[in-house]
Amino acid sequence: MKIETLCLHSSEKRNEYGCLTTPIYQTSTFVHEGIEDTSKYSYSRLANPTRSHLENLVAKLEGGYSAYAFSSGMAAITTAIKLIKPPAHIIASDDLYGGSIRLFSNDALSYGYEFDFIDTSDLELVKSKIRKDTKAIYIETPSNPLMHVTDISEIAKIAKDNNLLFYVDNTFLTPYYQKPLSLGADVVIHSGTKFLGGHNDALSGFAVVKNSDLDERLAYLYKTVGACLAPFDSFLIERGIKTLPLRMDRISENAKVVALWLRANPKVNRVYYVGFEDNKDYAVTKKQTTGNGGMISFELKESQYVSRILQHVKVFQYAESLGGVESLITFPKKQTHADVPHDILEAKGINDRFLRISVGIENIDDLIEDLKQAFEYEV
Ligand SMILES: *Cc1c(COP(=O)(O)O)cnc(C)c1O
Repeated sequence: MKIETLCLHSSEKRNEYGCLTTPIYQTSTFVHEGIEDTSKYSYSRLANPTRSHLENLVAKLEGGYSAYAFSSGMAAITTAIKLIKPPAHIIASDDLYGGSIRLFSNDALSYGYEFDFIDTSDLELVKSKIRKDTKAIYIETPSNPLMHVTDISEIAKIAKDNNLLFYVDNTFLTPYYQKPLSLGADVVIHSGTKFLGGHNDALSGFAVVKNSDLDERLAYLYKTVGACLAPFDSFLIERGIKTLPLRMDRISENAKVVALWLRANPKVNRVYYVGFEDNKDYAVTKKQTTGNGGMISFELKESQYVSRILQHVKVFQYAESLGGVESLITFPKKQTHADVPHDILEAKGINDRFLRISVGIENIDDLIEDLKQAFEYEV
């Protein structure tokens, strides 16, 4: 089955009433007939039918052995990182989601994890950082917010040669455009809050694993940590996934026009977007993905334009988050990446002239008109 169909028809069995959509099983506990009754469900922290349905769907979309649905992306990451036994050295992309950097740099040390943040698109650099106690590689590609692209299958080879667990945060492209497990990753992470859910109305996270050994260990962590997704939110995310391919296609189409418009704008210094053919990573993008997605970052020539633009956009909403049907514009320095140390942000170019856009599914003419009036607004 192709992915567009799978998003709608992953279902094994309908319930006794033949419901077309997955019912919301709003219960914390399940009654047993007797001591011999060891049916699958006992308590909703471990498993709930609405959530299981969603988890099976996401596992199929990613081509994984199993998936676990969490109450947020950060809950998924916090739990899935525990698949690595401390003490451990972990190599991670230096351009990660701000919350992941916060988790990995501040709290991780006290749990026995030591992270090295590097540019993982540089394969030689990755190899040079491997130590005796290195146990994992954790990447985002494209990265947030600089859109660096890391070659997943090349990193997978390095991970395999050195017996490292290989994680890919696939939030930005989703399995519709990129399938890390098929390229050799061991664990795929999602903030389902973003493109999978797609409607800016529910938080969620996923960890998808490639084999039964990882599944067994993650199942144990899942019930132990308890950061599980509620039945109603599971329903919302599954409902969102039904239109994932349609949304991603429209978002990508819109994003390309917005990226080109920004690139041609005299107030803009530089545009970060994976769909430009002159990017240094473009060959890798072509090799491992089937679409460019909706994420664009850009640097303005003058910082004074920032507040003007954020104040005057009407269709784009000035808000933190991404991946929904509504176009959002974000100021990473003050929002998503506010907890990353100032000097690190400056060195990477995430400064007070730097904005990030998540393109939605609006009519493209309205998006461009909106940017035009906000960019040209004079005080
Ligand atoms: C938002 C995000 C996260 C965290 O997910 P939450 O659902 O907000 O907890 C992790 N990784 C990426 C790439 C994200 O964009």
